[in-house]
Amino acid sequence: MTFESLLGNDSLKQALQHALKGRFPQSILLTGPTGIGKLTAARILTAALLCQSKGDKPCGICTACRKVEGNLHSDVTLIDAGDGEIKVDTARAIRSASAVLPGDGSCRVFLIRHAQNMNVSAQNALLKVLEEPPSYVFFILMTENAGAILPTILSRCTRFALAPLGQEEVLQLLRQHYPDKSREALQAAAAACQGIAGDAMQALSEDTSGTTAYAGRFLQALGTRDELELFRAANHCAELSRQQFSNVLAAMQTGIRDAVLAANGMNTPLLPALREQTEVLSRKLSVRQLLELYDWMDELDGRIERNPGMALLTGCLAAGCYERIL
Ligand SMILES: [Zn+2]
Repeated sequence: MTFESLLGNDSLKQALQHALKGRFPQSILLTGPTGIGKLTAARILTAALLCQSKGDKPCGICTACRKVEGNLHSDVTLIDAGDGEIKVDTARAIRSASAVLPGDGSCRVFLIRHAQNMNVSAQNALLKVLEEPPSYVFFILMTENAGAILPTILSRCTRFALAPLGQEEVLQLLRQHYPDKSREALQAAAAACQGIAGDAMQALSEDTSGTTAYAGRFLQALGTRDELELFRAANHCAELSRQQFSNVLAAMQTGIRDAVLAANGMNTPLLPALREQTEVLSRKLSVRQLLELYDWMDELDGRIERNPGMALLTGCLAAGCYERIL
């Protein structure tokens, strides 16, 4: 994990790297919406503070960097209560822990996620240590809503804001994290997330139970070549949003491409989860039929924007596909 791990945010990275070369502020606040990369940035900073390298920090390869990356560093404490309230006991525990000299490294780092969820007593208890922290202690607070943090805390922290990424940057990140997902699925997720990479990742993680399952069901129906089965499977998609339906179409197209590849004796599917369905398709349908289905789904995807209803779209999906495999 190095500064390269945080995409975009070039001026922020420069500011942080510059600050790390001098006397790094002991309390900082990272702001930005959920999923924007605050925890990633906090981890990079933590690694930089503890890194043992003589060169650029964090180096990403020394023991300290690797321990931070694996959440194993004994001098790092992450407070993450999720959506729950952070109570005064937690803040007091941070205070006592901050009085203990670092073990492994040269400093102690406390990371507090969703810092706005500290209740007032917790914030006041934390304030005491923020006002006069021991020289070896660093606090990295993260928040989605700085407005909910007491001004007294804010005034003690140096603030750094994270900005949304460009679509191309999100796509680059998704390719690294989801090498097994289709290009279409990644592009759809990158386009829909408005620069919040975390949202795109969540959409893709939920994808196995969603998109792929819908696509698999329809491809299976295609394999039966039964009109009723096709309409049933398509009808199942009527409950989806337009964006989800578009993702399902993209996944089906990937499956169809896999079937074409399988028909040509190539067994390295882009969507391994649908291997069973695509193998059936490669046997039951001709390559010409498969390519026509692929094109039809392209056309249908283009209609999503201007089409009045999902029921009509799913009906078109089934009818158009059946026509092409008769
Ligand atoms: Zn290092």
